[in-house]
Amino acid sequence: MILGNWCTRGCGFCSVPKGDPAKRDMRLDPAEPANVAAMAAAMELRYVVITSVNRDDLDDGGSGHFAQTVREVLRAVPNAKVEVLTPDFRGDFEAVDRVLTAGPHVFNHNVETAPRLYRRVRPQADYRQSLDVLRFAARHYSGAVVKSGFMVGLGETDDEVRAVLADLRSVGTRIATIGQYLQPTRRNLPVAVYIEPERFEAYREYGLSLGFNAVFSGPLVRSSYMADAVSAEARRSQC
Ligand code: SF4
Repeated sequence: MILGNWCTRGCGFCSVPKGDPAKRDMRLDPAEPANVAAMAAAMELRYVVITSVNRDDLDDGGSGHFAQTVREVLRAVPNAKVEVLTPDFRGDFEAVDRVLTAGPHVFNHNVETAPRLYRRVRPQADYRQSLDVLRFAARHYSGAVVKSGFMVGLGETDDEVRAVLADLRSVGTRIATIGQYLQPTRRNLPVAVYIEPERFEAYREYGLSLGFNAVFSGPLVRSSYMADAVSAEARRSQC
């Protein structure tokens, strides 16, 4: 995870600490891209997922630093696949483009939940804006597979899950991940319900019926869950 340890947002489901750049030193570490690349090379990684906190305080949302990290990792481990899991960059397509032109193989941006629950779950985000980011990535950059995901168990209905899947598909998303929300700390939102494995399977089948290349749906599925296998499956079903 790059762009520092502090996030300028405070999503109800996430335990990453919230930071205020007016109150603490949140300057980016210029050595971070090279350090991430050196670590990926030392570990001989075949699949690298690069994600970040949100940095709404930065003019470019941290997209330049993100892009530089992708380039350095690709240079250091040329045989590895790189997946980026990005913020929404407040809907700034130039920022999205900056990351995409660095050459990631998979562009991932999570919608996280159904739009009705955004105020509680993702108060500083906008569902339509996230869809626009995914649509931009799918339309303007054919080099990367576009992926998104969301949690269930936060109080969404079956119809809302199906609607989110349909929205993701309609903007060109090709891989979807669906997992059970688990409360990371007492300060985070409580779990509304634990979803049975059969319902996860029904969501997967519904997603595949919409034309996704791959849908990973299960209680323990997370955004980066078996990301290399998910990406390989999506590429295979493209052929
Ligand atoms: S924007 Fe991302 S890192 Fe920040 S609080 Fe929300 S989920 Fe956590």
